[in-house]
Amino acid sequence: MGTRRSGSHHSRVVRLLRLIAAGVFTVMKRSIILCVLVLGLVELSVTRLMAQDPRLLAAATRNSGDTFPIGVRTPRGASVYAVTRPSAAELAAIDRGLTDLFAVARKNGYSKRLNYGDYSVFIATADRTQNSEGQYSPDVAIATGQYAGSVYDKGGYMYVAGLVLSLDPCAFLIAEHVKDLDRMANVVRYEGEHLVLYHNDRRRFEATKDHSKGGSHPILQ
Ligand SMILES: [Zn+2]
Repeated sequence: MGTRRSGSHHSRVVRLLRLIAAGVFTVMKRSIILCVLVLGLVELSVTRLMAQDPRLLAAATRNSGDTFPIGVRTPRGASVYAVTRPSAAELAAIDRGLTDLFAVARKNGYSKRLNYGDYSVFIATADRTQNSEGQYSPDVAIATGQYAGSVYDKGGYMYVAGLVLSLDPCAFLIAEHVKDLDRMANVVRYEGEHLVLYHNDRRRFEATKDHSKGGSHPILQ
């Protein structure tokens, strides 16, 4: 259960309607993970920014409705911005997800943006902690976009596990996890796949960024 009320969901959704989003439905461990790319933010910057950049923070706030007063680094050096101080287990899960991402990226011959310090991860308050099947599934509510009218449409919004906020610098948003940190690590890896592809294989990035046209995670095998 999120700490926010449905009213704030609604106002948030209204603000989000102008965003162009692409999503993915991936069956993983019998739970659905939906990932969304906020394409409108692709041009956030042509140069690499510090994660503290106000525009990046604003993008995270605009999409999640949260503010992120906590700024920490994972043991391996990824930047983390959170509503409440992340647990050591969460930070380790982020590192684990990135480690898996970098390994599979190298396996695919990619070499750019494979440093922990290249990534900023925003941890938002979960808007739900259980999916419709009752499984632990901390997700964030965002505008329905092209999924309007689908079974995932909850009335103008839908729940996603992760959201790419910016392609350059590399930043994405996930929901707070208090358990099932393996799920959190997987969401990190999945969001990161889009970023690795953007910087290493633009053609493949373009072909896989919009999951509503097919394809799911993991993209990299
Ligand atoms: Zn995705």
